[in-house]
Amino acid sequence: MVQTNDEALALMEFLGVPLSRITIGPLEVKSPITGEPIGQLTPHSNAEAHRAIARARQAHLAWRQVPAPRRGELMRLFAEELRTNQADLGRLVTLEAGKILSEGKGEVQEMIDICMFACGISRQLHGLTIASERPQHRMMETWHPLGVVGVISAFNFPVAVWCWNAALALVCGNSVVWKPSPKTPLTALATQALFERAAARVGGVPEGLSTVLIGGSELARILADHPKVPLVSATGSTAMGHAIAPRLTARFARALLELGGNNAGIVCPSADLELAVRAIAFGAMGTAGQRCTTLRRLIVQESIYGNLVTRLKTIYQSVKVGDPRQEGSLIGPLIDGGSFAAMHNALKEARDLGGVVTGGERVNVDHCPGGYYVRPALVEMPAQTELVRTETFAPILYVMKYKNLVDAIAMNNDVPQGLSSCIFTHDLQEAELFLSAEGSDCGIANVNIGPSGAEIGGAFGGEKETGGGRESGSDVWKTYMRRATNTINYGNVLPLAQGVSFDIE
Ligand code: NAD
Repeated sequence: MVQTNDEALALMEFLGVPLSRITIGPLEVKSPITGEPIGQLTPHSNAEAHRAIARARQAHLAWRQVPAPRRGELMRLFAEELRTNQADLGRLVTLEAGKILSEGKGEVQEMIDICMFACGISRQLHGLTIASERPQHRMMETWHPLGVVGVISAFNFPVAVWCWNAALALVCGNSVVWKPSPKTPLTALATQALFERAAARVGGVPEGLSTVLIGGSELARILADHPKVPLVSATGSTAMGHAIAPRLTARFARALLELGGNNAGIVCPSADLELAVRAIAFGAMGTAGQRCTTLRRLIVQESIYGNLVTRLKTIYQSVKVGDPRQEGSLIGPLIDGGSFAAMHNALKEARDLGGVVTGGERVNVDHCPGGYYVRPALVEMPAQTELVRTETFAPILYVMKYKNLVDAIAMNNDVPQGLSSCIFTHDLQEAELFLSAEGSDCGIANVNIGPSGAEIGGAFGGEKETGGGRESGSDVWKTYMRRATNTINYGNVLPLAQGVSFDIE
């Protein structure tokens, strides 16, 4: 097996990142696959961050004058670069974030999809024409670029989350300054190199339109506090949201928050159990439980509980945990020892609370002694305790029983987070109730599909402690623009609204 560091360096060089940028410096990046270092970077200083924002501001002033469809052309060419390099960038995602190969490649596919979506949107940025109450008047809405958009991203979607934001922000006429997770800076630099190739091809792209800032929380705070950054999109833990959101509110800036989830699935007696089991397996164990939309709570009607749990236990005991570079591995490593400790502690607490745990033990993987590999854990819990109501970012699925669907929906909603949810049923009334105003309180509610793996065409995000933000499809582009209401008088008199008279003669 090629060493992860040799392979990572070779991929970075191939994708166009100068090796000098990633081989000297105090920020050590480790591959979760082996635990060995794959990069040594010099973080950006605070002064460099301020300069990057100033450059991005200038870039925006030029970019906003470029017709939107031309801006869309940049995203089309970027999608081409991503397509050409999908396997390599996807493999780098695997090396740096530990995702299995198909998920690494899938993450790049998501980038391609949102770029194409943004290219289409670039010909559709539109406002309303509204009936005026005054004669010979017209009212309309126009949408204008905002300025510099700050993007703070998490380790678990090291490139797609930036792209969800950047693709829309850029076609809307903004510039972007990106602070990726310090655990995954290599994929960010490689993405930036591909972006620069696309920018060179389209021509006329101002310098500093898209910048990557490597470093930790202090750089995120600079973005949050900077008066020339009107919108910050921040993806990560709810704790990070608590740190960032008040800073944005203090200066009345826009916050697009994509924070922690604690996603549930309800399984009803009429469900197709074969389908449900497959969806639960991917939802709960895929990406080693490190998706914001990972299935973390399963609420099963008591009449089918025994049957379903028996089937799931068999899968949990046999699913292939291993080196994510190898075909056949379905569960790769946790990101680091901190994640492993959090999982270990949660399982200990679950046992103390009467939970019955299947799996959860550390797994030795050949040639990967420094990786934190675990067998996913299925935990039968007597009740939805505080532990269950807390997001532990690891593959733990808490399973609980319900009698009546109304109680199951109440359990679905009785957590601080509100990202994703799903129901497995063939009963129309049950499905519709779950989707109704009395149903799931989450930003995403699915029927006969797990909670994860959203398509880019829909708006993505959640309520409550998940932060309320929406990214990606639908009309989310509006978040990256400012709305102006324009009223035009094409007559010769000046009627006032609401019949007000103000006669100055
Ligand atoms: P994290 O909160 O540790 O870090 C995310 C980003 O925020 C990083 O860039 C980090 O440097 C920065 N950051 C962290 N603490 C900060 C602080 N106090 N001040 C300023 N910046 C700070 O999250 P993570 O461990 O990288 O990712 C996992 C978390 O992200 C999970 O909670 C997961 O649910 C969440 N997540 C949410 C979504 C979503 O769309 N809702 C998507 C992916 C991940």
